[in-house]
Amino acid sequence: MTYDIQPTASHFIDGQYVEDKNGTPIPVICPVSEEQVAIVYEATPAIVEQALTAAKRAQGAWEAMTGTERGRVLRRAAEIMRERNYDLSVLETNDTGKPLQETLVADATSAADALEYFGGLAGSLTGEHIQLGDDFVYTRREALGVCVGIGAWNYPTQIAAWKAAPALACGNAMVFKPSEQTPLCALKVAEILHEAGAPAGIYNVIQGMGDVGAALVTDPRVDKVSLTGSVPTGRKVYAAAAEGIRHVTMELGGKSPIVIFDDADLEDAVGGAILGNFYSSGQVCSNGTRVFVQSGIKEAFLKRLSERLKDVKMGDPLDESVNFGPMVSGRQMEIVQGFIAKGIEQGARLVTGGQREGDKGYFLQPTVFADVTDDMVIATDEIFGPVLSVLDFDDEDDVLKRANATDFGLAAGVFTNDLKRAHRMVAGFEAGTTYINTYNLAPVEAPFGGSKLSGVGRENSKAAIEHYSQLKSVYVGMAPVEAPF
Ligand code: NAD
Repeated sequence: MTYDIQPTASHFIDGQYVEDKNGTPIPVICPVSEEQVAIVYEATPAIVEQALTAAKRAQGAWEAMTGTERGRVLRRAAEIMRERNYDLSVLETNDTGKPLQETLVADATSAADALEYFGGLAGSLTGEHIQLGDDFVYTRREALGVCVGIGAWNYPTQIAAWKAAPALACGNAMVFKPSEQTPLCALKVAEILHEAGAPAGIYNVIQGMGDVGAALVTDPRVDKVSLTGSVPTGRKVYAAAAEGIRHVTMELGGKSPIVIFDDADLEDAVGGAILGNFYSSGQVCSNGTRVFVQSGIKEAFLKRLSERLKDVKMGDPLDESVNFGPMVSGRQMEIVQGFIAKGIEQGARLVTGGQREGDKGYFLQPTVFADVTDDMVIATDEIFGPVLSVLDFDDEDDVLKRANATDFGLAAGVFTNDLKRAHRMVAGFEAGTTYINTYNLAPVEAPFGGSKLSGVGRENSKAAIEHYSQLKSVYVGMAPVEAPF
């Protein structure tokens, strides 16, 4: 790992880096060496105030620009991001421990896609015209105002940009608080946006734990809150935002099913299960961690999965041949180890993995359990680590009921070569994001988000515009006003 990742300062406010060492120190720990590699300081109340003041001041003029002008800034930021993809990927790898092999193709590139896509949409955001005899109504699509973004630690660059891009395209300003686990990448997003021409104050990044997030959510100047995080945090943030009747987007956790029928293409099904469980060492919200496999294909599936897992290469994530990195933190590793122990205790069959790898760095082996039943903790709780559970099934109706028997509803996938069954299954899934014969792809053109406890609102696609803008109706009277007296 590279160690020269100390940012210029902890916060980026009003177009520049700002430091205030009175805040609680937040050490950045390298998940490979377990050593401190950078430090930032939690935002003090003065920093929170500075960020919100800057956003509030800058927003009106930004909204008054044409959409094409705003879009140009976002598209330029996308270009800069692509030009710097290598350095940004190295930073993301240092921030999270994810392999460079992944970050080179999934993080700054995905952020750039979002900036480019919403930059392209910005010039064509419109209201509508409704004729009512001689009178008519037109709607103005207006920005919400100041938006707060709060991020999780698994995709720090992507989360920052997925929130910034639609918010800024619609003419809002944003204050973003990254996860305290991964504070570095969002600062780069802010730096690049301003280099691309975003006016000072339009996108600000401040550091901190949950209390800083909570202070932002309840500030009267804030019009919208977009959180990516766990369900317990989502409950708190949603409730706090409700106090001020603020708009919300909640991208929360999941325990998603992948259903594999006997007639599925085995290699695709195994590939989907790998993508849906082990990418980013399993630290992906939409992971399909309950893999329901029909009895006829079960042993073949487990055999092929075990074979393909032999190609896992753990090690220094900056080595581009490494395809499996450590957990983000020692705490996360311990949480996942606790789930593995529980799986064994409750009688699941450990097919492969289950152990920490080495004694330095937060590396856990990709782990597969078979003979998992619906009531086992590894089948009910979000683990957020590399633990795949195989559950058995025979009947389509029965598996659909079991797939839906969870309070989460983020994603779901089905592997089958029966066209009608595939569409029946996705229609029946209680989930916001579903897949047929593939898994875990999240292109910016498609809406992404959850149902049930997994969230409200959608990120990406044109759908995100509805969550970062509001319509004002303008009734225009053309006839004399008729009043009763
Ligand atoms: P977390 O809920 O612990 O924290 C998320 C963010 O919320 C952090 O920045 C944290 O500081 C902040 N926060 C905590 N308490 C707060 C409060 N009271 N008020 C305001 N902010 C507060 O989540 P995490 O551990 O960082 O991330 C893992 C979770 O995120 C998993 O559940 C995962 O499924 C979910 N996630 C969801 C998506 C999605 O798009 N649906 C994407 C990535 C991660």
